[in-house]
Amino acid sequence: MQASDIPLELDKLTWPEARDAAERGAGILLTVAATEQHGHHLPLGTDAITGQAVALRASVGLDLVVAPVLAYGYRSRPFSGGGQRFPGTTSLRGCTLVNVLTDIVNEFRRTGFRRIALLAHHMENQNFVYEAAYEAVGPEQTDGTRVMIIESPYAEFSPELAAELYPDGPPGRGLDHAAVVETSLMMYLHPELVRTDRMADDAPPRVPRYDMLPIPDGFTSASGVLSQTVTATPEIGHRCFDEITACLHDLLQDGLFSDLESDGNVAGA
Ligand SMILES: [Zn+2]
Repeated sequence: MQASDIPLELDKLTWPEARDAAERGAGILLTVAATEQHGHHLPLGTDAITGQAVALRASVGLDLVVAPVLAYGYRSRPFSGGGQRFPGTTSLRGCTLVNVLTDIVNEFRRTGFRRIALLAHHMENQNFVYEAAYEAVGPEQTDGTRVMIIESPYAEFSPELAAELYPDGPPGRGLDHAAVVETSLMMYLHPELVRTDRMADDAPPRVPRYDMLPIPDGFTSASGVLSQTVTATPEIGHRCFDEITACLHDLLQDGLFSDLESDGNVAGA
């Protein structure tokens, strides 16, 4: 395996370089993000920007090509992204997302890649990413292709960091939207894109244990922020980034490059 010190980005390789990477058994990673509202203070591209930054850093030290981020994802939902009512939120239907992802996985495979990773960096994408991998490869082994599906890129943060992020306890995973983690990450990675003067905590007026269409007024916050955000800092973002990327690096090492058959990781083995 040829580990790289700098990220290998597919769109910056030549075709012979991409061929060589595939032939030597390099992996390829696609981040599946979204164009979605993130409150008054973060840009619509927050999931794509942070997701690709995480992917690029996590790839360092692995023989892994990082594909251009897919910046569109499945529909925003009220209790994880604010829902579809916000201008700028631009989403795909589930069937479209599955078709796009299936085509991309098939193209990776056709061009010789056999170690493929899909990173869902937008909560609503999760099952559609799995479905596309299933459509492309299915459950049975054929030509040695493996498609790794990573649905939850955020590590379990260390107890020290978690205590700092959520002094009153976590808000529930979906509600951590445009909130302290994403805001801190953006303050660290792209401070010029964060409207710090417009940061404000917010929350949906009610969070029932069901969803509803059409979306009732009380099912999302006015700003699109779903929990606490004002405690965000670039320093916290730096620590989140380091923990998330270290976790993802280990997941990729294990999922793409370990011998799954012999170490008992295959279900039923
Ligand atoms: Zn987000």
